[in-house]
Amino acid sequence: MPHNIVFSPIAEELAAIAREIADKHVRPAAAKYDKAQEYNYEAAKAVAQAGLFKTFIPKEYGGHGAGILALARVTEELAKADSGFGVAFAVNALGSFPILVGGTEAQKQHWLPQIARGEKFVAFCLSEKYAGSDASGLAVTAVEDGDDYIISGEKKWTTNGGVADIYSVFCVTDPTSKSRRISAIVVEKGTPGFTVKKVENKMGIRCVPVVETHFDKVRVPKKNLIGEKPGMGFKHAMMTLDLARPGVAAQAVGAAQGALDLANVYSNRRVQFGAPISSHQMVQKMMADMGMKTEAARWLVYAAAAAADAQAGNVSKMAAMAKCFATDVAMEVATDAVQVFGGYGFMEDYPIAKYFRDAKILQIYEGTNQIQRMVIARSLIKDCAELDHLKPFIPTEVQQTYRADLAPIGKS
Ligand SMILES: Cc1cc2nc3c(=O)[nH]c(=O)nc-3n(C[C@H](O)[C@H](O)[C@H](O)COP(=O)(O)OP(=O)(O)OC[C@H]3O[C@@H](n4cnc5c(N)ncnc54)[C@H](O)[C@@H]3O)c2cc1C
Repeated sequence: MPHNIVFSPIAEELAAIAREIADKHVRPAAAKYDKAQEYNYEAAKAVAQAGLFKTFIPKEYGGHGAGILALARVTEELAKADSGFGVAFAVNALGSFPILVGGTEAQKQHWLPQIARGEKFVAFCLSEKYAGSDASGLAVTAVEDGDDYIISGEKKWTTNGGVADIYSVFCVTDPTSKSRRISAIVVEKGTPGFTVKKVENKMGIRCVPVVETHFDKVRVPKKNLIGEKPGMGFKHAMMTLDLARPGVAAQAVGAAQGALDLANVYSNRRVQFGAPISSHQMVQKMMADMGMKTEAARWLVYAAAAAADAQAGNVSKMAAMAKCFATDVAMEVATDAVQVFGGYGFMEDYPIAKYFRDAKILQIYEGTNQIQRMVIARSLIKDCAELDHLKPFIPTEVQQTYRADLAPIGKS
């Protein structure tokens, strides 16, 4: 791998602004928006005014051009205060990446500056009721009709649905093709036939809406097809996830740090057996493990984000590793933080329970952690092709009985 992880001055500046906004507008209101299941428009406005939506947008489209590492730092700061608001912020990048990685120059000039200014919020519509982990099984169709596409069907789990103005929608444009079956098309809020239906009642991240989006013969101009030609949607989706997964991982680091900080404060003040519980060795072990895991996750996330910025060859593997590791850590740390709080940790009166509820989704969305492990394992198997020089160091009988035709992926 190794990449030198050096934060640009702009990344540091944006992270500091994010921390300020998190302290002023996000943390104090987190419980209120969680309970009401309402979007925190006030904090989103502050984020827009401070220029944080510009973070990942290239300079030529009105952004800061600060890259994925800066995006990770900003997301981490927001998620530390409220994991739900961290998602509400990061999903704008997720929805914008298909335009960024696959859009034509005209499309980028049209949509990205509005997103950078925070005038338009974005959503990413890939998943469907019957197509989750297996994104190749999509059923929403887009059929050509003169200068337009007509989109029909339903998407499931659209984060930011209803709040967003711009939707990157993955549709089947060629049902007969295996490799070029899917295209991404931008659908704007208010387009006739496009509606938000079921608003999900979630366990966590309750301040950001997750909805079903319905497309009833929605007519959109062909110029909304992302890219020059149809059939590139699956590739655009995978490229998007490579860029977005360090962002989910950064949400996880923020969430873990937020839970750890609360547990730290509590354990130093809660007295049992005549001493702060932080002096009891078993609590110390929990705190030490939480601290180590959070720090390990943080630096893996930065490495993955740096790999994305460097367009390194191993970006998919790094993104999957960071997503999987950091989100597992967030769940473990949030669980232990509740344990440190004892009975109070189980009560909704205090934010620590919300960290626990919010952490679970991180292991599920943008590819479950089982899927991340598949990506990582396949990538490791491919790496084996470069390890021929180690063959003499495995048992002779294993070398002799090796069958290339049984190798799971390529030469190994
Ligand atoms: C709150 C929330 C927000 C979301 N936001 C968005 C969004 O904005 N846009 C969007 O497009 N999607 C979104 N999603 C969808 C999310 O990405 C999917 O839920 C996720 O990819 C898993 O798909 P699934 O729920 O259909 O589970 P399934 O694919 O049915 O998986 C169920 C279980 O089986 C396992 N599994 C499946 N296949 C394999 C395999 N081959 N090997 C091993 N294990 C396997 C999974 O890991 C999981 O544990 C969101 C989901 C939620 C709950």
